[in-house]
Amino acid sequence: MPTRNKTETACRICGLDDGEVLFDEYGVPQYVICECCHNESGIGDDTVTQVRELRGYWVGDGAQWHDPKRKPADWDLLKQIGNIPTEWR
Ligand SMILES: [Zn+2]
Repeated sequence: MPTRNKTETACRICGLDDGEVLFDEYGVPQYVICECCHNESGIGDDTVTQVRELRGYWVGDGAQWHDPKRKPADWDLLKQIGNIPTEWR
């Protein structure tokens, strides 16, 4: 398995990055459920086509936070989307 030398902490779907590792340095999913878009890393987000489809549904549904209590008062959707790793945009 190739080493990518970097972990992924930003959600591939919505870009939320709270520092928790979603994919390790080998690209192995850690099955962490995103508290924003509610996607679980490793479930349905392993191809860019799937990622875009899930993101489309999420945004189309109003880009809701699964756990609204965790939504920052000054939350900025476009700023968060900017966290999405280039290869998953
Ligand atoms: Zn997410």
